[in-house]
Formats: sequence, structure tokens, C-alpha cells
Amino acid sequence: MQTFVTRDEITNWRKQLARDQKKLGFVPTMGALHDGHLSLVKKASEENDAVLVSIFVNPKQFNQQADLQAYPRMLDADIALLRALPNVVIFAPNEAEMYPTGLAFEPMQLGEIGTVLEGAKRPGHFDGVVHVVHHLFALIAPDRAYFGEKDFQQLAVIRKLNEHYQFGIEIIACPTKRDPDGLAMSSRNLRLSANERNNALSIFKALTLIKENAGKLPIDAVRNQAIQIIEEAGLMIDYLEIVDPRSLKICQSWQQIQLCCVAAFCGEVRLIDNMLCESVKLP
Ligand code: AMP
Repeated sequence: MQTFVTRDEITNWRKQLARDQKKLGFVPTMGALHDGHLSLVKKASEENDAVLVSIFVNPKQFNQQADLQAYPRMLDADIALLRALPNVVIFAPNEAEMYPTGLAFEPMQLGEIGTVLEGAKRPGHFDGVVHVVHHLFALIAPDRAYFGEKDFQQLAVIRKLNEHYQFGIEIIACPTKRDPDGLAMSSRNLRLSANERNNALSIFKALTLIKENAGKLPIDAVRNQAIQIIEEAGLMIDYLEIVDPRSLKICQSWQQIQLCCVAAFCGEVRLIDNMLCESVKLP
């Protein structure tokens, strides 16, 4: 399996693809791959001639050193998983290769979508995401790039970045993959004990409760019930908000469709999840 580690290797490989008029799909990741990641890679593999998966734990997007250090790293296992898929190559740069001295970068203003929810709770996080994705898009110049709706706000940030820097890449949103019991797949789940994992299911239960009651009961009452489910399971909520899926502004009343977003600490591990909830039409 081709595993590139330098920018030069990528540039040469990309030039050859262009000469052969092949379409390139790109899936940026931080590794510790699971079926959620693989669903993006499979879609990219179906829709393109070649797929590049980047694996890079980006220090710039971590606002807590402890979280960065505890982030799982398992490149050999990741390579073994990707080997099974056709037309996939890996880019696993080190930090010096990702951020070479002197490489120009003009930061962008994200506006409101960068300051709410994750942006409010993790200062600098999206600036770090923009920085790394800018460099990856500029280097790789894919035709299409694949991102998970699990990180719904990140997807909005990526669309804005793509327009701002005029990359002209097709951004493809992929649905959240869940374990059979509903827990959203995440590399961070590896850090949960069996007991914590069980408690973490409360996030899915809370989101499901909101989905089932959207448009039926007063929005504040439903939100409070959802908060209670998560807190009773022993998690510490960072935020639980019902927002407009486009602007990410908090909904004061039910709309036709809303996005319910949660971030909560399960022990030491911060988990996020979201669900689009359509208001139930009453007869
Ligand atoms: P990460 O390695 O966490 O940075 O994730 C890399 C990409 O995989 C991002 O676009 C994520 O949104 C996506 N992703 C992570 N978990 C899931 C999941 N459970 N379902 C679908 N996509 C996911």
C-alpha cells in the first residue's frame, strides 16, 4: 500500500493523476480509524478513480494539551484497515512536513459559525482546522473532499473555507455512522471504559428524545428533559443546544427542521454528537 510522508511525494503523485485525467477523492482524518471513517473512504472510492486518506493528528486544533497527548495513534492498524479498499493511498506526514517553515497562510474570519457551540467551547479549534485543511487542500488539490456530519459545524466551516480560498473542491457530506446501540463512532470512544461507554449512550437517547418530540411539546421542556437524561447518566454537559442547521443560531421555538447538538464529558473524554430533527406534524 502506498504510504506517502512528504509533500514532494504527494505533488509528484498528484501530477501523474492529472496527466492521466483521473478524479481524486480526499478524506482527511486524524487516524485511529473506525467504520465511520471507512464509510467516507468507501464513498470516495466509489465516486473517484483514486482516494487519498490523510492521517495527521493536528496539534493546532487541540485546545487542551492533555487531549492532544491522549489522542489515540495507531498508524499500522490504520494502514491494515485501508489496505482492504481499492485505489486508496495514505498521506501520513509529520508536523514539520505539514507545516514547513515559511509556508504562507492567511487566516480567515469565520464569523458567527466559528464562534458558537464548538467554537465557543474550544477557542482556537476551528482556526487550527482551517489551517490544516487549507494546507491539505492546497497541496492535494482533490476534485472532491469527504467530511462526516458527525462534525456538523466543522462541515459548515469547511464549506466556508472552500469558498473563501476559492479552492473549488466539491465538498461531500456523509451521514454519521453509529454502533448498533446508537453511540456515534469516534476515535475517542477507544478511551472509554465499559461503564463509561454505557453511560455515553445517554447522548443518543437524549437526541432521540428530542427527535421524537420536536414540534410536539414546548422546546424548552424537551431540551430540559434531554439534559436530564445525560446528567442522570453521570456525564457533564458542555452544551446541549437546538439550533438552526444553516446559521447554527439557537432556536427559540420549533422550526420545520432543527439540529440538536451535544458535547459532554464522559469521565475524561469529551464526546460530541448531533441529530437533525424534523418537527412532527400534528394532525
Ligand atoms: P477525525 O479523524 O475525527 O478528524 O474524523 C475524520 C473525518 O471522519 C471527519 O470528516 C469526521 O466528521 C468523520 N467522522 C468521524 N466519525 C464519524 C462517524 N461516526 N460517522 C461518519 N463520519 C465520521
